[in-house]
Amino acid sequence: MSEQAEHVECLIIGSGPAGFTAAIYAARADMKPVMYEGLQPGGQLTITTEVENYPGFPHGIEGPEMMTLFKEQATRLGADIRFGLATATDLSKRPFRVTVDETKEIIADTVIIATGASAKWLGIPSEEKFKSNGGGVSACAVCDGFFYRGKEVAIVGGGDTACEEASYLAKICKKVYMIVRKDHLRASKAMQHRVENTPNIEILYTSTTKEILGDQVVDGAIITNTETNSDRKLDIQGFFVAIGHTPNTTIFKGFIDLDEQGYIKTIPGTTRTNIPGVFACGDAQDKVYRQAVTAAGTGCMAALDAERFLAEQPVEEGVQGNGL
Ligand code: NDP
Repeated sequence: MSEQAEHVECLIIGSGPAGFTAAIYAARADMKPVMYEGLQPGGQLTITTEVENYPGFPHGIEGPEMMTLFKEQATRLGADIRFGLATATDLSKRPFRVTVDETKEIIADTVIIATGASAKWLGIPSEEKFKSNGGGVSACAVCDGFFYRGKEVAIVGGGDTACEEASYLAKICKKVYMIVRKDHLRASKAMQHRVENTPNIEILYTSTTKEILGDQVVDGAIITNTETNSDRKLDIQGFFVAIGHTPNTTIFKGFIDLDEQGYIKTIPGTTRTNIPGVFACGDAQDKVYRQAVTAAGTGCMAALDAERFLAEQPVEEGVQGNGL
């Protein structure tokens, strides 16, 4: 055990709706939870606008405000919420070891993983070139749309996120091109109708991005129509990517059973992973529902599962599989 090692009963990694709900339940169960908030305190909801579908908020609530309320509630009930990023784990035996910010070691009797998911990128070199320092490529319309007020922009993706962000951008920007690789949108019918009926949104179907153009900042993009095999240049100043997410589970690889996309496998109907004492909740283990309310629900389950586990299992060395 290193000098800085600290022993905790219940360690929660991640601070979205799942993590905070786990913290609320664990604190009320007197498990003295310690939470590390991660790179994006509050999680993905901090980069959304209005949340209209979380029960209890009849008039909707802004995502960041909602997460501030979650945090306040968890803190008031006694959760110890800290800024810091879990950078490595050793889950080979109990108690578990988690390294925070590459320096601090936490020894935990139980671990609740609530690390969520992060935006995916196209992976073309010109995207990489403009991704940082306000170059003009972004994965968050709500965060960065403001910078393109009155300008022309493009957004890639045909799912609900892309449609939602295209609608958001259409209110700010002069023109929004949606670049959709198939000949149809994947989004829900309601979202499809919304973008189709917005006059300043133009949907480019069967289209892919060949290159994003510009010197220091984006000033255009070459889009290929894969049906006609022809290219078109868009004169845009902003380029948004909304093509889905990747679960933040890399530090658990080798210990926790993950599916082919990296989502944590849990025993159906529970938040138990293949390692007894390690539980997973929220988007890190959910590629189907991915809603704030479902994440919060699984956060509650994780805390209850951890509480029962601690009551039944004394801390001992060695790990038995959960049989996933
Ligand atoms: P989705 O996975 O649903 O959609 C991703 C979109 O990006 C698809 O159109 C996909 O195309 C496209 N795509 C993926 N990779 C690439 C690529 N490399 N190049 C070009 N296009 C690509 O992700 P979302 O983030 O939109 O949604 C995630 C989940 O969250 C969904 O279940 C959604 O319903 C939900 N959601 C709900 C909202 C709400 O209820 N208000 C709001 C936002 C999201 P293809 O169709 O060809 O695979």
